[in-house]
Amino acid sequence: MSTFSLDPGEDQLAVRDWLHGFAADVMRPAAAEWDEREETPWPIIQEAARIGIYSPDFYAQQYFDPSGVGIPIAMEELFWGDAGLGLAIVGTTLAAVAVLANGTAEQIGTWAPQMFGTPDDVKLAAFCSSEPDAGSDVSALRTRAVYDQAKDEWVLDGTKTWATNGGIAAVHVVVATVDPALGARGQASFVVPPGTPGLSQGQKFKKHGIRASHTAEVVLDGVRVPGHCLLGGKEKLDARLARAREQAAQGGAGGQGGRAKGANAAMATFEASRPAVGAQAIGIARAAYEVALDYAKTRVQFGRPIIDNQGVAFTLADMKTRIDAARLLVWRASWMAATNQPFTSAEGSMSKLYAGETAKWVTAQAMQILGGNGYTREYPVERMHRDSAIYSIFEGTSEIQRLVIARSISGLPIR
Ligand SMILES: Cc1cc2nc3c(=O)[nH]c(=O)nc-3n(C[C@H](O)[C@H](O)[C@H](O)COP(=O)(O)OP(=O)(O)OC[C@H]3O[C@@H](n4cnc5c(N)ncnc54)[C@H](O)[C@@H]3O)c2cc1C
Repeated sequence: MSTFSLDPGEDQLAVRDWLHGFAADVMRPAAAEWDEREETPWPIIQEAARIGIYSPDFYAQQYFDPSGVGIPIAMEELFWGDAGLGLAIVGTTLAAVAVLANGTAEQIGTWAPQMFGTPDDVKLAAFCSSEPDAGSDVSALRTRAVYDQAKDEWVLDGTKTWATNGGIAAVHVVVATVDPALGARGQASFVVPPGTPGLSQGQKFKKHGIRASHTAEVVLDGVRVPGHCLLGGKEKLDARLARAREQAAQGGAGGQGGRAKGANAAMATFEASRPAVGAQAIGIARAAYEVALDYAKTRVQFGRPIIDNQGVAFTLADMKTRIDAARLLVWRASWMAATNQPFTSAEGSMSKLYAGETAKWVTAQAMQILGGNGYTREYPVERMHRDSAIYSIFEGTSEIQRLVIARSISGLPIR
């Protein structure tokens, strides 16, 4: 078993420096333009693919890095570059993690390459769980998956919303309910292959931040996918449904209450990706902190740099302290996941909660330190502040993280 260390090792530090170069030289100069254009930044994704940052191999390497902190380090550097462009580059991994978490080895081998495409023909993937009436409450999903035994096909019908890369992705991973009576435990995840008829993009959302990342509704109208597109396979699903029905009949955790233990496809995906999302938030916070520190040292008012005032210097001290504390929580959770430690106090949720709230707080302080300049688009902290706001919303809101932590530490079904 690998022991926890704050030294990621030479290989990981080399990856960090390489990503930092890409973030500084390619992402930063392009960030403001793509934020304004509010379009998918294909040239940036293509450049990431060309040098090997946008590929299943790169993420697999980071994911399986024995230090356990490969993914957080990569996320922090890319999101230090820019959060909108960062999400445009890594949005595919949410769908990839869903396949990794729920799929067979064969399914992973089939779909991962198709999600990323090649440097000459870049593709995206989308993970579609949220629906208009099922955001925090994933057990309320209405999208139905019905098995057509004669054709060995699944038929998907419903409307998904807020899907990152939704409608422009080659591969969509869709969470649907197979047995609505079982709530979250009656759900399964399906791959919708490229070009499948019946899947279309609905409304594309105009957003407050992370505007270079595409977010849209996905409409599924009689979408037919082959039986092998059910992640994990039918035998495993049938066994799981039978267990859930048995527990429900005994008045156990088979119904909606079962979701507290993360015993469904969507929750499994979210659990695995929470520390990585926290690391993204840390990247934004660190970027804003650095701008504010430089500014405070050079901006002169009342005949001295503004950092000479304790009020400003202490804010910067708190910003740095919170960022480092958040990183420690993220690294711990990521290491626990990599070494299969049980999350006895919902440490993954803790890391995402604290890092997300830290990013919002730090970017707000950075705007304050930059005064009027902080409020304009001449300086990047205004964009960073807008970008940070998503980190208390997606991948489980801050309230939902607190709910998960509270249930975990108390053992009680807190509502
Ligand atoms: C930019 C963006 C990208 C996204 N990408 C994806 C994606 O790729 N795939 C995907 O499936 N989804 C995605 N989402 C959806 C995202 O995960 C949801 O928005 C999020 O889970 C919250 O759901 P909701 O918006 O329906 O809010 P609601 O669940 O309606 O929550 C509204 C408010 O009520 C609070 N609340 C709800 N229940 C409770 C409770 N029990 N206790 C206390 N407070 C509660 C919430 O914390 C929140 O403050 C994305 C969203 C955005 C905005």
